[in-house]
Amino acid sequence: MAQTPLLQLPEFRNVSTVSLVVKEPLCFWNGSRVKPKGGKSTEPVYEPATGRQLCELVTCGEEDVDQAIKSAHAAYLKWSKLAGMERARIMLDAARLIRERRTEIARVEVVNNGKSITEAVGDVDAAWQCIEYYAGIAPTLAGQHIQLPGGSFAYTRREPLGVCAGIGAFNYPFVIAATNSAAALACGNAMVFKPSPFTPVTAVILAEIYKEAGAPDGLFNVVQGGAETGTFMCHHPTVAKVSFTGSIPTGKKVMEMASKGVKQVTLELGGKSPLIIFKDCDLENAVRGALMANFLTQGQVCCNGTRVYMQREIMPQFLEEVVKRTKAIPVGDPQLQDTRMGALITRSQLDKVLAFVSEAKNQGAKVLCGGEPFVPSDPKLKADYFMSPCVLDNCSDDMRCVKEEIFGPVMSVLPFDNEEEVMQRANNTSYGLASGVFTRDVARAHRVAENLQAGACFINNYNVGPVEMPFGGYKMSGFGREGGQVTIEYYSQLKTVVVEMGNVDSLF
Ligand code: NAD
Repeated sequence: MAQTPLLQLPEFRNVSTVSLVVKEPLCFWNGSRVKPKGGKSTEPVYEPATGRQLCELVTCGEEDVDQAIKSAHAAYLKWSKLAGMERARIMLDAARLIRERRTEIARVEVVNNGKSITEAVGDVDAAWQCIEYYAGIAPTLAGQHIQLPGGSFAYTRREPLGVCAGIGAFNYPFVIAATNSAAALACGNAMVFKPSPFTPVTAVILAEIYKEAGAPDGLFNVVQGGAETGTFMCHHPTVAKVSFTGSIPTGKKVMEMASKGVKQVTLELGGKSPLIIFKDCDLENAVRGALMANFLTQGQVCCNGTRVYMQREIMPQFLEEVVKRTKAIPVGDPQLQDTRMGALITRSQLDKVLAFVSEAKNQGAKVLCGGEPFVPSDPKLKADYFMSPCVLDNCSDDMRCVKEEIFGPVMSVLPFDNEEEVMQRANNTSYGLASGVFTRDVARAHRVAENLQAGACFINNYNVGPVEMPFGGYKMSGFGREGGQVTIEYYSQLKTVVVEMGNVDSLF
């Protein structure tokens, strides 16, 4: 597809797209923006790159959540009765509208999230492609015909669940809203979505687009807030399923709450993924892969391959190349097309990441580059949220920077000697979201992929995620899948209908 040219920065800042979009209310239910009655608190929302406050977010209280869920239920009753082709037509229209407005939506995402515009445009493209993909699947949903003795038969119906709750993380605000809703709506469900309180701005744009595309009022709703609002969603008796994207500690709470109502759950949680690079690899591609595995979205990516295991013989060449390119990553204004790394989401996230680096140094790791607050040259940008991407050498498996998810631009590099050893070390973790391997040995590549305990394994690449591909975790990284055909099973349920063609063979 031809790329739409991006708006130029001065043009963007002058028209102040942000002030046009970040207008309260950011909640949406029953077909329009709603001013919520409010929960216990309000939350300030910032532009990470400049530190300016965008708005004071009014969080949703119990009554607001209930209203949104009621409107979703009313829409579900209509939507679920439409033929798959009819649902698909509306979803395809929504995908088209997003595609046409991709630059504007991406601009707003950058303002609220801090990632580079180049990545944000890619995110928006992933969003419309996902809606398009599930629109294509909607008319194909079908059951099975099962022959029984005496001409009797049974058939299965794939039916929606009802009202699904979606709870999103801050790192991919628009994409998570689109991915959760695409599969849910294709199956005939309605959705109430809550974005992260750090990034509340773009979900409501998606809600307006679904409405413009012809979705019934209440089909896709947005509530705002943090833990309190999320808790109301998880406990609400009308919610049939919770699709959660976020950290493991919060995921455990969501699962516990959902269990009280025996609600279905999809958990897309954190990771600390291994990337294994063998000495027979194409080194140029391995270097590119390692950078892609660590520095997208300022390192705030769940499936990042942050434990980079290098076969000892090629470690010096690898490190030299990786460090050279990491130092050259343009950090700065995320609205500029040349920028490759913007601002972290909050000051406290930056502090957390820097603390990991400092502890790693104290434990004997060597900082080969970065790992410090970055001061942008443009005075409009707030230095407090930027950091230089970091490569750590001399790491060992027992260091906290190697064991725990940092969620920042920090790559830990660890040497290994042979396949058996590295497999044992790679799997010695409670995480299991993703993994990667670089080698030219085809048999080894598939053997390693088979034996890595993770929901995904990238062979000779990293962090590619087309919508056709199922995505989700092993172990404590979660369960259920988003993406791909299999996700239909997580947003629908199967009914078996038995048809008797003869007499009832009664025992009584
Ligand atoms: P988080 O767990 O802090 O918050 C996620 C969401 O949960 C937010 O909307 C938050 O408001 C809500 N929440 C918080 N407490 C809640 C509660 N008690 N009940 C219900 N909802 C509650 O995560 P985050 O900091 O926004 O995101 C970063 C984490 O998300 C990382 O661990 C990352 O790996 C993970 N993540 C995973 C995936 C994936 O697909 N596996 C994708 C993106 C992010």
